[in-house]
Amino acid sequence: AAKSMGRDRVRLFSPGLREAARWRLEVATRLRDEAIDQLVVHYQPVVRLDTGAVEGVEALVRWQHPERGLLAPDTFLAVAEETGQIIPITRWLLRETTRRAAAWAAEGLPLRMSVNISARHFSAETLVRDVRLALRESGLPPDQLVLELTETSIAEDPTRAEDQLTVLRRAGIRVAIDDFGTGWSSLAQLFSLPIGTLKIDRSLLVAAERVTGGEGGAVLAAIVALTRTLGIRSVAEGVETVEHLRMVREAGCDMVQGWLLSHPMPADEVPRWVRRVQEAGGDACAIAAATA
Ligand code: C2E
Ligand code: MG
Ligand code: MG
Ligand code: MG
Repeated sequence: AAKSMGRDRVRLFSPGLREAARWRLEVATRLRDEAIDQLVVHYQPVVRLDTGAVEGVEALVRWQHPERGLLAPDTFLAVAEETGQIIPITRWLLRETTRRAAAWAAEGLPLRMSVNISARHFSAETLVRDVRLALRESGLPPDQLVLELTETSIAEDPTRAEDQLTVLRRAGIRVAIDDFGTGWSSLAQLFSLPIGTLKIDRSLLVAAERVTGGEGGAVLAAIVALTRTLGIRSVAEGVETVEHLRMVREAGCDMVQGWLLSHPMPADEVPRWVRRVQEAGGDACAIAAATA
């Protein structure tokens, strides 16, 4: 089945206090030099709910650590953010992912590429330049790239965020708000910004599932209705089960992403996964539901 492909077995470990200090130091030191070569990008499909067509992929970074195995971003990105290494890492990621998307498009598989941008990079002067350079070098059309920003990035300095978003929009680059529902930004503030997509965090899905009698689904539906009114597209993150799929469909979400459809997978598996969906009729949601 399509969903058994590309299961990325990333490791998350919770070191003890002393070990944690040592780990932070190791990350800080190694990410400065050799570790950038050990970073790999996995890709998770984003699928349209109406047709089940594959809209694009989200790039998710992993560290192929020589001793510890494939490490999840949560184990090293916070340190990279503190040391500022996140900026050269993201520069590399932007080049790698735009090049990849341009190559897939040339093979007849145009997939919109989503890249996560940290708060630190979002508030840096270089972001727009870094993005433009990657687009220019790869030849990827700007509208094929989506930058995912968290609510926190925006809440830190809303005025500056608005300026930065306006510059990106003028350059034709799309922006999505990631992990919606985990922060505390005001809806009014968020929705006054020029954003194209809202990614609804998995925690809202889990919360909605816990509420019985349909009220949980009503919360999701209310958020989606609001995005509709504002011309913002919605993505439900972390769809793991057929029940989740039913809930987000009922709520009226535009797109879905989650283990039910596919785990994040290495780059070379993506064209195979997409072609397999196409050969099975093109509706990734129907295929996933049938094989779940
Ligand atoms: P995110 O951007 O919200 O990415 C979604 C996370 O949910 C990913 O975790 C993905 O593997 C996981 N996921 C996908 N489907 C499911 C599902 O059905 N169930 C569950 N439980 N989880 C699912 P991952 O890859 O560990 O990344 C965690 C976070 O690390 C990301 O959250 C993002 O905030 C950050 N991150 C990942 N890659 C990058 C990157 O290249 N740059 C930056 N700045 N942050 C990154
Ligand atoms: Mg994301
Ligand atoms: Mg998210
Ligand atoms: Mg998340």
